[in-house]
Amino acid sequence: MSLSDLYSLQELDLVRAEKQQALDEVRAEIGDESDLQRARQRLAQLDARHSRQEALRREAQRLTDDIETREGAVQNRLYSGAVTNPRELEAIQEEQALLSRQKAEAEDTLLEHMVAAEELQDALTRTQEAVTVLDERRIQRLPHLRQQEQALSAEVDALDQRRAGMLPQIPPQMLSTYETLRVSRGGQSVSKIEQSRGMDICGVCRVALPRSDTEKLRSGDSLVLCNNCRRILYME
Ligand SMILES: [Zn+2]
Repeated sequence: MSLSDLYSLQELDLVRAEKQQALDEVRAEIGDESDLQRARQRLAQLDARHSRQEALRREAQRLTDDIETREGAVQNRLYSGAVTNPRELEAIQEEQALLSRQKAEAEDTLLEHMVAAEELQDALTRTQEAVTVLDERRIQRLPHLRQQEQALSAEVDALDQRRAGMLPQIPPQMLSTYETLRVSRGGQSVSKIEQSRGMDICGVCRVALPRSDTEKLRSGDSLVLCNNCRRILYME
């Protein structure tokens, strides 16, 4: 029986599991671009909205310019003195009044589109800045993450090598029990016996062990499992 080898194996396995988890987390962070992707998506959406808004603004500007041109032509005719017929003069004055109302409306619309376009431009600038910051942060962080990944990966490999060297010292049946329990007992299948108030207790579940168990363990013929948590008991 080489329970101390089994206990050493468990200590190695627990360290290995920690390193593996850290490695998984680092790799997940290396692959995770979600913040940046969200910001880039928002940038693309804002860009499209801004383009549409700019088109509306240009259209409103064209309409305003057009009305102004027509208004200017009407004014020229009116003040040129060429029109003397009262009915014709009245018609031109009516057209002038109509154009003036149209111009006021067109200018209101133009102003609304200008304000909306400006707001979108501001949002676009802010989002562009956010994307740049996220991009730079990632560029700065990546080398550090890759370094961590390399170091952790090397540590896991070294632990695997040590593990492979330990396995031949452990009887196959014992190893098989260890591996089965490892899956169902949260990676901890061996429990070191501890002392509490003069009694032997299971180091994991802290339940007192019957004397018969510790005697059986001392005689060393077979594996003894904790009655409560069903872990392999080990006495140092
Ligand atoms: Zn126990």
